[in-house]
Amino acid sequence: MKDYTMQTSQIQRNYLCAICWSELTLQEDGEPVCAKYGTEHYGYVSRSYVQRRRQEDLLDYSNAHWNLSPVLNTNTKSVDELLKELGF
Ligand SMILES: [Zn+2]
Repeated sequence: MKDYTMQTSQIQRNYLCAICWSELTLQEDGEPVCAKYGTEHYGYVSRSYVQRRRQEDLLDYSNAHWNLSPVLNTNTKSVDELLKELGF
């Protein structure tokens, strides 16, 4: 029984919810479940996996932001400046 408790606390410490990557909490029976959604979410993934995926997502975000910056940047010129550029 003691070993089982140690195992679940290790799981709680080293793993996160497989679906939403939230912390795990222990149910009354000692079973680790998603701290946010309880038994609605099933399974868990290692903390290091989540860390690696978040770094990849951050890199993807940076690349997307860089690639879309010409489209995303709002034009800061005033209406008068734009009209002047257009020759009015
Ligand atoms: Zn979850």
